[in-house]
Amino acid sequence: MTENSQVFQEDTAPKVARAPGHPRILSLANQKGGVGKTTTAINLGTALAAIGERVLIVDLDPQGNASTGLGIDRRNRSCSTYDVLIGEAPLRESVVPTAVPRLHIAPSTMDLSGLELELGTTPGRAFRLRDAIAALNSNAADDSDYTYVLIDCPPSLNLLTVNAMAASDAILVPLQCEFFALEGLSQLLQTVEQVRTTLNPNLSIHGIVLTMFDSRNNLSNQVVADVRQFMGAKVYDTMIPRNVRISEAPSYGKPVLVYDLKCVGSEAYLKLATEVIQRERELKTH
Ligand code: ADP
Ligand code: MG
Repeated sequence: MTENSQVFQEDTAPKVARAPGHPRILSLANQKGGVGKTTTAINLGTALAAIGERVLIVDLDPQGNASTGLGIDRRNRSCSTYDVLIGEAPLRESVVPTAVPRLHIAPSTMDLSGLELELGTTPGRAFRLRDAIAALNSNAADDSDYTYVLIDCPPSLNLLTVNAMAASDAILVPLQCEFFALEGLSQLLQTVEQVRTTLNPNLSIHGIVLTMFDSRNNLSNQVVADVRQFMGAKVYDTMIPRNVRISEAPSYGKPVLVYDLKCVGSEAYLKLATEVIQRERELKTH
């Protein structure tokens, strides 16, 4: 974070006045790779859309796994989140529909990996995404307004993740049920705190999504207990059951349709979506 520490000092946080119907904006963030950020973004997005929300996933990872997972061919990414953050296109221009009704995505390309260098010390560089999202629903027809924006972060605490945090109402932290799960969490929470005190006073922690959770195993239960004790956050679990092969599970690699999946895993995400909506209502009124 050292190269970025300056970003917290330079950019004072002018409060953005938000239109009453603005979308709830959630970031899936964890600087560890392979913990389930993208899988959660895709499946939670699909589940939210399935129960009637209008959802936009913003792919902020240069790897573009969320874009690929939702079936967006690289040739259809002529306008991407890179063009948006560099200031060359409004967010709406990058948005493409997915096979899931009410679920859209702003795809990413590898170009994003150069953004930090390209923006250098440009003033306001931490607010690029916030400002792009603020403009999103203005002038939109009522039925195309988004009610949820889910930001899929890269596995790092770089300028892209800081942009996501500065733009968000809350953070959802996917955490893998493994022995070192809590390692790195305190660094993430420190960054959240830094963003809260400088760039975005409205930022809250929505909760922890335990991925690869299995109640039959002691380690999973230990991780749940540790997380509760460590941060008192709401804990969700999204175990993909053992009798489901990962290739059949709601994951990326093929477009995901919660309705069509004949596995219990999709139920976990529908339950998660219902709880997320409930918790967001609580957070909004506090
Ligand atoms: P990240 O975006 O954090 O790098 P991914 O979403 O790419 O992580 O997930 C990494 C791997 O973990 C994938 O193979 C995915 O299928 C698997 N995975 C993600 N979430 C779960 C879950 N809830 N249960 C079981 N496996 C999961
Ligand atoms: Mg990912």
